[in-house]
Amino acid sequence: MIETPSPNFNDRPDGVFADMLVFHYTGMASGQAALDRLCDPVAEVSAHYLIDEDGAVHRLVDEQYRAWHAGVAHWRGETNINDRSIGIELVNPGHEFDYRAFPEPQVAALKELALGILARHDIPARNVVGHSDVAPARKIDPGELFDWVGMAQAGIGLWPANEVAPSDDVDYDSGQMLTKIGYDISDLPAAVTAFQRHFYAERLDGIADAATLRRLAAVVALI
Ligand SMILES: [Zn+2]
Repeated sequence: MIETPSPNFNDRPDGVFADMLVFHYTGMASGQAALDRLCDPVAEVSAHYLIDEDGAVHRLVDEQYRAWHAGVAHWRGETNINDRSIGIELVNPGHEFDYRAFPEPQVAALKELALGILARHDIPARNVVGHSDVAPARKIDPGELFDWVGMAQAGIGLWPANEVAPSDDVDYDSGQMLTKIGYDISDLPAAVTAFQRHFYAERLDGIADAATLRRLAAVVALI
C-alpha cells in the first residue's frame, strides 16, 4: 500500500457508514496524471484508492472519510452516494483515449483490496456497483471490459448463475426491474445500457430485448 494522501475529502454525516462499493476507471492518459488530479485541491475530486495497471495500490483517503468520486448519482433511492460509499479508481485510459482490458495484476490487487473492504464494512453484494450503475446518464466507467463475473466468483458483488426463463406470471417491465435493482430510470435507455454494461455486455444498445429482460429478471431474483 502506497500512502498518497489527497486533500479532497470530508467527514461522512453523523451515523452514516459505508454500505456501497463503487468501481471507476480513471479515464486519463496516464496513471500519474490521474493521481495528480485526484490529489489536486483545485480539482475537488478523489477516491479512497487508486490501483495502477501493475497492481500498485495507492491509498488517497481513509475509508472512514467521505471521498469525492461519485458526483450526481443515485442508487436504491439514495442520492448522496459519496456519503455512504468507498470508491476505487482503476488506472485505465478509458473510452476517451484507449480503453483496454484491465491487466491481471491490477485485477488481483483489486480483488484483494475489495475483499478487505467487504470484511471491514457491512456492504451487501447488490451495493457493489460501477460508476455507470449509479450515474447511467453521465458515466460509462469502469466499462464493459470490467470482469464482473470474475469479481462475483471471488465473492465481490452479484452475478446471476442462471437466467430465469420468461413466463407470464413474472413482471417483465424493464423500468420496474431496473428500479428494484437500484437504477435511476429517469433516462430509461441510459439505465438499460448501464445494466447491460454491468450484467449483459454482449449488448450495449439500451434496448431491453428478451435476453436483456431475462438477465434483468435473473438479477432481480438474487436480491
Ligand atoms: Zn468514475
